[in-house]
Amino acid sequence: MGSRSTKFIFVTGGVVSSIGKGLSCACIGALLESRGLKVTALKLDPYINVDPGTMSPFQHGEVFVTDDGAETDLDLGHYERFLETKMSKLNNFTTGQVYETVIGNERRGDYLGGTVQVIPHITDEIKRRVFLASRGFDICIVEIGGTVGDIESLPFLEAIRQMRADLGPENVLYIHVTLVPYIRAANEFKTKPTQHSVKELTGFGIIPGIIICRSEEQLDQKVKSKISLFCNVKEDCVVNSYDVGSIYELPLVLHREGLDQRIVEQLNIWTGSPNLKPWEKIASTLTAPANGSVTIAMVGKYVDLTESYKSLTEALHHSGFANDCKVDVAYVDSEQIEKDGVAAAIEKATNGKGVDAILIPGGFGARGSEGKIQACQYAREQKIPFFGICLGLQMAVIEYARNMAGIAQATSSEFNPNSEHAVIDLMESQKSVNRMGGSMRLGAYPCVLAKGSLTAKTYGEKEISERHRHRFEFNNTYRDTLVKAGLILSGTSPDNHLVEIIELQDHPWFIGVQFHPEFKSSPRTSHPLFKGFVAAALEHRALRLKAGRKLNGKVVKSSKSSRNGQTGDAPIDQVDDSERGAVSSS
Ligand code: GLN
Repeated sequence: MGSRSTKFIFVTGGVVSSIGKGLSCACIGALLESRGLKVTALKLDPYINVDPGTMSPFQHGEVFVTDDGAETDLDLGHYERFLETKMSKLNNFTTGQVYETVIGNERRGDYLGGTVQVIPHITDEIKRRVFLASRGFDICIVEIGGTVGDIESLPFLEAIRQMRADLGPENVLYIHVTLVPYIRAANEFKTKPTQHSVKELTGFGIIPGIIICRSEEQLDQKVKSKISLFCNVKEDCVVNSYDVGSIYELPLVLHREGLDQRIVEQLNIWTGSPNLKPWEKIASTLTAPANGSVTIAMVGKYVDLTESYKSLTEALHHSGFANDCKVDVAYVDSEQIEKDGVAAAIEKATNGKGVDAILIPGGFGARGSEGKIQACQYAREQKIPFFGICLGLQMAVIEYARNMAGIAQATSSEFNPNSEHAVIDLMESQKSVNRMGGSMRLGAYPCVLAKGSLTAKTYGEKEISERHRHRFEFNNTYRDTLVKAGLILSGTSPDNHLVEIIELQDHPWFIGVQFHPEFKSSPRTSHPLFKGFVAAALEHRALRLKAGRKLNGKVVKSSKSSRNGQTGDAPIDQVDDSERGAVSSS
């Protein structure tokens, strides 16, 4: 059983999926933490896969990796970005895991010949896992994946229904997140879907204490009153989460709606008043970034599928907060690069505005890899700030081997298992792996940084710990050749066996890492590598502008520095997109 003082908030979703239940949970957590409570959050996924590690990014989006090496739902990324609490393998489980445990118990004979059933065996296992993750916390927020009414989420609903009876109403609160659609023809927000969804939830014995209504625009009091009346929830417990420009404004919006106050009242918790300063600071950067904006090209295969790069995109935004600028991400299709070349593909992706830095994210498979390798070469030769993450590092190593170390056929054995020039090769520990799930090199590993390297300076540390998810590695057979050719190995495993980080000399900012730093970035504390990368992008923007001025033969005026609402000439590093467009098209 969990610590007796833990109180539970169960968050269900209604009407449609993808309305931001995970974000709502993350914001609830942030608000309660800001009141001094110790909060954790977990996600229960009703699908039968054991974890999302083997699921297609088209179906599932990003796989979020925890320090302890769990491959989890991307909502855990939201939780870590909004909460101080770190997630672990306890914070996400699926129907598949629940059944795996129960069937394992049954095979061992633990049920002493009894008939194994959804109630109580499956529901008990769900409750056991929830209690396990809640240990030591004041508040445990539990998000139920899917939408109320889905057949597969029924055991989860039954388990959380029982928990209120088990623990008492002062220890369990149900929050339902629904969509309140705006119907243009009627010029009205419609509450009926919410009414139906709450009715369905009530049918399972779950009575929500708070309803969070998602809507495109702010709802007026009349709509809230109607929902209150029909759904049997107090009027001030109908909370409106309307669309905002940035997800980091949400904690403040929900606080203004009274969400945290209603929660502590309903759970009968005494807390101090919330300290929302960090969120207010972020919100002010969002509205008026002093340093304008930079554009970063993210070169990948799933460019239409930005959900698969969730943490990465967020990490870039965080480093914008740290550099007091806005970060625009231009998704560049690596296969487009293969067809048209780097410059043209970037031109197309940015409508001719150009980019201030290039990033290659993690990925799998050969498709589009030649385009990524070309992007590395372009960044290296044009001295454009470059950040390669996991596969991105591997691409940079291949490019360097081919063009700087004379290994023309250099490749990765991921793309050509029989290659004799695999500068990136399957890790020794992976050679005996014969099952897909959970078998990569996963989770946090230490890495020692080379003294005096750009990486060491950027981190300001000698040793770091970062999260991994890969099977291939820098092939040590080529270490000497590549180092002789000028490649800097700026981070290795403490036993010096595994190359974790590379960088280039004579380049303003070119770093490739074998791990995924994006998993450890938060809006309040930007990751040092991302922070340094965006700072380098700002510098590159200034250079681009200078070059543009020279080309124009005149000073480019930034008379409409619209982002900070000022007029007149802005300093060279304080111009917005429109001016940068003018420069690069000249
Ligand atoms: N496919 C590469 C590997 O398995 C890179 C993985 C990644 O980018 N996460 O090593």
